Amino acid sequence: MTVPVVGVDLGGTKIFGALVDPAGTGLGAVLEDAKSPTPTGGVDSILDAVEALVRRLDPAPTAVGIGTPGVVEPATGRVLLAPNLSGFDRPVDVRRLLEERLGCPVSVGNDVNVAALGEARAGAGVGYDDVLAVWLGTGLGAGLVLDGRLRIGPHGLAGELGHAVVMPGGRRCGCGGLGHLEAYIGRRALEALARELHAAGRSTQLVELAGDGPMKSKVFQAAYEAGDPVARELLDEGFLLLAVAVVNVAVTVDIGAVVVGGGLGERFGDLVTEQLASALRTLGHAGIEPDVHKAVLGDHAGALGAARLALEAGRDLG
Ligand SMILES: [Zn+2]
Repeated sequence: MTVPVVGVDLGGTKIFGALVDPAGTGLGAVLEDAKSPTPTGGVDSILDAVEALVRRLDPAPTAVGIGTPGVVEPATGRVLLAPNLSGFDRPVDVRRLLEERLGCPVSVGNDVNVAALGEARAGAGVGYDDVLAVWLGTGLGAGLVLDGRLRIGPHGLAGELGHAVVMPGGRRCGCGGLGHLEAYIGRRALEALARELHAAGRSTQLVELAGDGPMKSKVFQAAYEAGDPVARELLDEGFLLLAVAVVNVAVTVDIGAVVVGGGLGERFGDLVTEQLASALRTLGHAGIEPDVHKAVLGDHAGALGAARLALEAGRDLG
């Protein structure tokens, strides 16, 4: 009998944990799950909450994996900086502190990378050894699994596809760089652009539907489906530049599949996968292009990926 492990997705607003059967597949591998709000009282309050959640799922866990926002030092499992977590504005030795509390091995990874590992190994990427997972949300996150293993890289930079240069000298990205992919397809960037165009005199349902509130994924979907010219212009350009970035990944490391998830990715569903597949057919080299799939694990991708991280820790995953 295989022994279950616990995967934890530590987010800025909630902590989600799952007890995972290593022999299970997809969402069927989740034996039990639990969530709690993320405390805002500093490092100890957050670690207390993670410990309590893990013990609810498994009073004596054998291994725990955790995905956190921010920059994770692969060799040590320290979280160097995670502005979305209270008290994580300086390095926190998450691996060691949780191992002391839980009495079992703990593996720590960046949340985007960990969710990519989840989709690659337990979700839409099952059957492929080489998978790029792309999360279209507020920004653009991605993770790369090569030969079945999460690629971190010497600087932890692998999968930072949101900062791929797709337009030299182009729009300014949230990171300060120019012409980065995220400046063309991240929801925050798209909203800023739509509001700029509106202020310059272009009428658009994007602003009419959103009003003064946040321009949510469903607003982009409604305006796009209604044929709103600004929504079409912005998103079609964004999807095309996403395909440019994916083609460049494909000819660099050769991938079998691209998995698309995230709030905007899920909203657009078949539309984004069809657009991407079509652009890849046009742009791909030598008639070879990766398969394109929608993410299938939803909110469970992070916890399932964290569980995989724990299982595979012995294989030197960061
Ligand atoms: Zn950038």
